[in-house]
Amino acid sequence: MLWTVMPATGSCQLVPLIPSSSPTAGPVSISQPVGRGPLARNLPDDVRTIQDALNQVTVKGVAGGPLPFLDVDGICGPKTNAAIARFQQVQLNIFDGVIEPNKKTIIKLNEIIDPVSEEDLRAKVRLALPIVSQAIGAALRNLQAIITTGPAPAGPAATAADRLNRHFKLDTLSASKQSEARVDLFRSFTRYAAVMVNTEAINIDAVDEFDLDKQNPKIALTTGKGFFEEGQIDEDTNKRLDRIHLGLGFFAQNVTPEFGAFIILHELSHFVGHSDGRFIIDNGRGWFDDQFIKPLSADQRLTNADSYATFAHECRVDSPNKPAFVKTAPGGLGGAR
Ligand SMILES: [Zn+2]
Repeated sequence: MLWTVMPATGSCQLVPLIPSSSPTAGPVSISQPVGRGPLARNLPDDVRTIQDALNQVTVKGVAGGPLPFLDVDGICGPKTNAAIARFQQVQLNIFDGVIEPNKKTIIKLNEIIDPVSEEDLRAKVRLALPIVSQAIGAALRNLQAIITTGPAPAGPAATAADRLNRHFKLDTLSASKQSEARVDLFRSFTRYAAVMVNTEAINIDAVDEFDLDKQNPKIALTTGKGFFEEGQIDEDTNKRLDRIHLGLGFFAQNVTPEFGAFIILHELSHFVGHSDGRFIIDNGRGWFDDQFIKPLSADQRLTNADSYATFAHECRVDSPNKPAFVKTAPGGLGGAR
């Protein structure tokens, strides 16, 4: 099973997920034990994770962190072992000198370094979801205006046509293709609304295999047309296919509720797909007049995730101005397919 994974910057990538061997509840996560003794494997990536985490304990001003800081070199030498021992003694009264996946020491490290709770994460999603629903509602009203009255020189239908032309280049299509596209769009946004009624479809999955790289936490992942995979589970990772999974990157400081709503709208389009059965991919990311969107044809935009998100955003805020959180990037999946 391939997943559409949105990185912190750029277009979504189509990748298989690897099952996590370390379901540690937090951003500090290792695959094998680190430290001294027969259990320790000291894989360089895991050692680096621990060295960095211990240093952050000191940065936070919490007792038990190393000073001077450890070199984050992936080598578990005497200084790293001493720092592990000191942290365990001060914080946990443990003396085994080894940090195991999902055990007390790593749980404590996570508590200190990233005390964000499940409730915090839910609160953030709760702020974004109503904005998503408003945007879907506004998009549907725009589409309905032009579908029911047809092109008009002024009024809601004219406004809707202008928006559809800028975000989807519908004016480059024949009249019959245009009306077909409007109905397709209406069907798609109706399905987005159906997803939003079941808020469980937006899964908070802050700890994810793909977030092991803390430098580039992933924002969201979903499966193409997962909407139609009700109840199905990915054999490799036990993740539900009929969910939009929000990763750690979604909970970063820069993701405001408005930005979060935009991300979810983008993911909804991958999740539902085009109503003619095609996948919605990333032919380019950005606002309608950005460099990587401008060259896209109507057909490419109608299968482009950001075009759906930008159109719905404009319908909601009633302004064609590009929001600061929209960044342009070349297509990802578009190239891969
Ligand atoms: Zn995407």
